[in-house]
Amino acid sequence: MAICLVCAHPALLQCSGCHRVAYCSQEHQRAAWDKHKRLCKILQKIERGEPSPDPKSYCGLCGKTEGPLRTTDCCGKTVCDDYEKYVMFTFSYNSCSRNHDRYTRCHYHHNERSHGGGDWKTCSECRGGYEPELTTWYATNRFNFLDDIHPNPPTFTPKYCKKCGKVVKKIEDSGSSLPDGSVLCNACM
Ligand SMILES: [Zn+2]
Ligand SMILES: [Zn+2]
Ligand SMILES: [Zn+2]
Ligand SMILES: [Zn+2]
Ligand SMILES: [Zn+2]
Ligand SMILES: [Zn+2]
Repeated sequence: MAICLVCAHPALLQCSGCHRVAYCSQEHQRAAWDKHKRLCKILQKIERGEPSPDPKSYCGLCGKTEGPLRTTDCCGKTVCDDYEKYVMFTFSYNSCSRNHDRYTRCHYHHNERSHGGGDWKTCSECRGGYEPELTTWYATNRFNFLDDIHPNPPTFTPKYCKKCGKVVKKIEDSGSSLPDGSVLCNACM
């Protein structure tokens, strides 16, 4: 089953441009589009077997070619050198470098000496520790380089709001856990 690039819940819509990414909803497709549109064009060229730019010449997360670009310490991929774009405490996803460093297992695993190196995708520490929904999100979200998205992430059971029945997605709705194990979404809290 395809997984939404934004929230890690089951995806129903595939990107009709590159066929490489999928989303649960148009809302999440729109949320990712700004950083996917250029990359999508490059992926389409690759898919059609047309000459495509050298991977070192564009950001592997957003496809931007006009730098500044840098190489990640964790996986040696090319990414926008754009930490200065991020404004403290906004928690926005505007910086490609920060997104990869903060929201992927790739960088986390690289920094955690106790994980013993090697590939994060086969690291047992990286597969546990958090709630499965978040573990899955870290392993499959759009801040991973597409070739590195975990092919076989842990599965999780979505939680539904006890009051309105809406699915409560961890990554966008902190919700509230009730003593009986059920949850309420932010709107119903
Ligand atoms: Zn989604
Ligand atoms: Zn696409
Ligand atoms: Zn970028
Ligand atoms: Zn990395
Ligand atoms: Zn690890
Ligand atoms: Zn609710």
